[in-house]
Amino acid sequence: MSQESLFDLPGTPSGSCQEPPARDLDSVRNAAIECRKCRLSETRRNVVFGEGNPRAGLFVIGEAPGAEEDAQARPFVGRSGQLLDKILLAVGFERKDVYIGNIIKCRPPENRNPLTDEIECCMPWLSEQLDIVAPKILLLLGRVAANTILGNNLSMAAMRGRIIRWNDFDCVVTYHPAALLRNPNWKRPCWEDVQMLRAHYERVCQGSVTRDA
Ligand code: SF4
Repeated sequence: MSQESLFDLPGTPSGSCQEPPARDLDSVRNAAIECRKCRLSETRRNVVFGEGNPRAGLFVIGEAPGAEEDAQARPFVGRSGQLLDKILLAVGFERKDVYIGNIIKCRPPENRNPLTDEIECCMPWLSEQLDIVAPKILLLLGRVAANTILGNNLSMAAMRGRIIRWNDFDCVVTYHPAALLRNPNWKRPCWEDVQMLRAHYERVCQGSVTRDA
């Protein structure tokens, strides 16, 4: 199978950084879209909160919105998002089955990496999403997302290819779709990662696409 067809398969900041109080996803979203806790609020067009099945067993976490995501206020809707959809579908997940979000909710200018203080300010939103959705498995896309969630500074090679337990979640690390677009040679290891993810999902989520309510 060629690298290209690997996934062509069926199937001035204001306010504090204090963690907001627990609530439901809609109320968290409503609060987040007004957020001005870091400088990215000054350049964003939209807050990209995240979307998907609010009872998903699998929560996909990327780094930050890009231009298309910023314009549409939806995560992973540009070229990277189209590839992510193919990757997920290749192992039997439709987009509506999972929840998709980012470490950072507002687009960094020129798609630069998010800064440490921006991540610290934004992480409480993701923490609330994880608390509410309560997935079993996290798919961490790229080194920034993985290092942030897992609290390490490891390389992709050191993190991918295995299940990493973090808090109440089983984490799978793989390449960000944007990186796969730049380097198609990484599609093969990504394919191996998501096959491992699917097999683990079958074990811990008992073969169902969504968890029992
Ligand atoms: S990036 Fe996060 S913390 Fe910063 S303004 Fe946007 S939502 Fe708020």
